[in-house]
Amino acid sequence: MTETPEEVLAIRDLRHRFPLKGRRGSFVTAVDGLSFSIKAGETFGLVGESGCGKSTVARCILRIYEPTGGTILLKGRDITRLSPAKLKPHRKSMQMIFQDPYSSLNGRMSIEEILTEPLLANRIGKNLRERQALIKAALEHVGLPQEALCRYPHEFSGGQRQRIGIARALILRPALVVCDEPISALDVSIQAQVINMLITFQKELNLAYLFIAHDLSMVRYISNRVGVMYLGRLVEICESHEIYRNPLHPYTQALLEAIPIPDPELNRGKNYSRLTGETPSPINPPPGCPFHPRCPQVRDICRRQPPQLIPAGEVGHLAACHLLA
Ligand code: SF4
Repeated sequence: MTETPEEVLAIRDLRHRFPLKGRRGSFVTAVDGLSFSIKAGETFGLVGESGCGKSTVARCILRIYEPTGGTILLKGRDITRLSPAKLKPHRKSMQMIFQDPYSSLNGRMSIEEILTEPLLANRIGKNLRERQALIKAALEHVGLPQEALCRYPHEFSGGQRQRIGIARALILRPALVVCDEPISALDVSIQAQVINMLITFQKELNLAYLFIAHDLSMVRYISNRVGVMYLGRLVEICESHEIYRNPLHPYTQALLEAIPIPDPELNRGKNYSRLTGETPSPINPPPGCPFHPRCPQVRDICRRQPPQLIPAGEVGHLAACHLLA
């Protein structure tokens, strides 16, 4: 019998709202009741346009923001409301790779200092020699030479800096890595290298990835499952292959339509509508289905009643659209 992979992360009904500046007692809801889980060795892709709340989800999971509702389980332990002192031992199990390899590294620290910092903060390595051995191994792991240790971030290209960011995240041997648009600031020629590196490390270290991206093409090659977010809510969630083969929500279909495909034959028979209009302001979201002002298939009910995320299509495929009820 094969062993079921460990559930590294589970979030249930996660919510987050920000107070509105200058408007006492008013809030904007950035994350509105998200639930999903990620197993060891699995990648969950979270996709949506800028401002849909996906980075807020990441920051809530890492407890950079305090969630206003819901539960976060890390390796089965509820960390949602742990005090900073009690959370500290769990922090090394969850690390982040940032979008911008330029601003995510402190320009005044050498690479050696950047990689030493998390080891010291988490008391890893008994002495200088042990820490140096870990740092050298981490650097070698991401394909950078040992001479890099005494250099500074500005001396590296964007792709090399992102490798250093990956080394910093993985040196603590986390169970969960939140990858917040880790390739969107890189040249196209470098993007595939970084994705392949992440896939290799995932296999070696059995890592769970939450991979955040603003378009579906980026998550295509790395995700096992995909969740599509719109205005703070999940509107569709399913296996990665299923979302490309059988997208059910009109918003997901529009995101797929927006991916440039070099061979027009691949789109034959698919008549998805293009996405038009702007994302509504989360300060004043539309009533009913939040996608209704932009939806080409809108019905009367959509303007009044919010659709629930319900099973549709293959097992595990959920979508929130009245057309599927
Ligand atoms: Fe479009 Fe209505 Fe479905 Fe919303 S519920 S996606 S408005 S058809």
